[in-house]
Amino acid sequence: RVLVGTKVDESHANWVTAYNMLTGIRVSVSRTNAKLDREVTDADFEVKQKSTFDITGNELVPSAKYDFKFKDYAPWVFRRLRSLFRLDPADYLMSLTGKYILSELGSPGKSGSFFYFSRDYKYIIKTIHHSEHKFMRKILKEYYNHVQANPNTLLSQFYGLHRVKMPYGKKIHFVVMNNLFPPHRDIHTTFDLKGSTIGRDNKEEDLAKNPRATLKDLNWLRRQQHLELGLNKKRLFLEQLQRDVLLLKRLQIMDYSLLIGIHDISRGNEENLRDKTLQVFNPGGEKTNDDDPSSVLLRTPSKLENVRKARELRQMIRQERPVPIGQALERMTDELGEGHSRPGFVFNQDDGGFRATHEDNSPADEIYYLGVIDCLTHYGIIKKIEHFWKGLSNDRTQISALPPDQYGDRFFNFVSGITLSAEEARREAQRRDQE
Ligand code: ATP
Ligand code: CA
Ligand code: CA
Repeated sequence: RVLVGTKVDESHANWVTAYNMLTGIRVSVSRTNAKLDREVTDADFEVKQKSTFDITGNELVPSAKYDFKFKDYAPWVFRRLRSLFRLDPADYLMSLTGKYILSELGSPGKSGSFFYFSRDYKYIIKTIHHSEHKFMRKILKEYYNHVQANPNTLLSQFYGLHRVKMPYGKKIHFVVMNNLFPPHRDIHTTFDLKGSTIGRDNKEEDLAKNPRATLKDLNWLRRQQHLELGLNKKRLFLEQLQRDVLLLKRLQIMDYSLLIGIHDISRGNEENLRDKTLQVFNPGGEKTNDDDPSSVLLRTPSKLENVRKARELRQMIRQERPVPIGQALERMTDELGEGHSRPGFVFNQDDGGFRATHEDNSPADEIYYLGVIDCLTHYGIIKKIEHFWKGLSNDRTQISALPPDQYGDRFFNFVSGITLSAEEARREAQRRDQE
């Protein structure tokens, strides 16, 4: 994992794109938020809301720095999704667009997607391929129903689906989603696990150079790692994972992985990640930024200060356009004080994550931040071809491109196989030794 990425400022090659993405989000999301709440209808899943931005602006669209077109897909569905995930509408917009600061994650993966963090590190913008975009729209209703039925889903939380197009430029599709990792805790080790062993290795020699690199299945096995959860947490985790994988199988999705970030409590925040993050995402630093109401989102201020900042924030948003300030914003005043834990969500119950536990359910020394990511790859023709070619030279069950049913089973079996308390793991190792 690259910790902080590159700040996207005006000299950055992707500055205009990033700026337009944020402008589009700010205008279209606040337009949707301004409407009175109602139920989602079937038609809402098909909606494409198009805006044309230019320097002059008009009644519907404020003036912008650059000319571009923006599309907001199924805005009402995503408004409801954000609400199901208990995001505060004002918080969401402030985090992403309160200041136009994003940070780009180093070299994009082999998929060619770009990743941007919001300045407070809560949200990730990921550019996606047109095929992923089309697929997402196709499955949106199933995803929405799943989230409704499974508020604790481990699947990526999608908060928005958008497109920008600059004059003479390509169409750029992107999603906004949750950053699984917390802004305030150093992540000491990251694993991206698929349950496949072929090519799923990060050379241990290379790790000396980059101790933050994302590790894979073979590194996990070699290090004899376990997801140390006592019986209660293990059951909660595997039950939810099973329901999520069932959906992925049904939707013919594959290639997803379980992302696990491990915070080692005994090491704490030795490298002071939080301060570094703040410098990058908020170059003015905390102190000089005291007048920016959104800076409340980066700190754990006193209750009184919270109230004042929330009121200012509310005013700012009011001035910009008519966002009716519902109960959500009132509630924010209380919730902000609770730091980054997300009350009510099982896998975020311990400091925003899920704390490792012993067999007797007493806490162990690590906090896991986990979820299922990269879940928009449909087992289409490309994967079938890949499976065929790779299968010629490798063990067919071990390659990562597998039909969705097999992929899901292998994934779930792998994860459930590694989920056990340290005590259980020790007993199992002893038993193996005796055999
Ligand atoms: P590929 O298809 O080649 O695997 P991709 O471009 O689709 O790559 P992802 O697999 O979605 O990319 O993510 C790549 C890496 O980015 C992950 O291994 C993880 O380190 C980081 N990442 C992705 N999504 C998140 C998230 N929601 N929270 C935190 N980190 C993430
Ligand atoms: Ca991936
Ligand atoms: Ca991918």
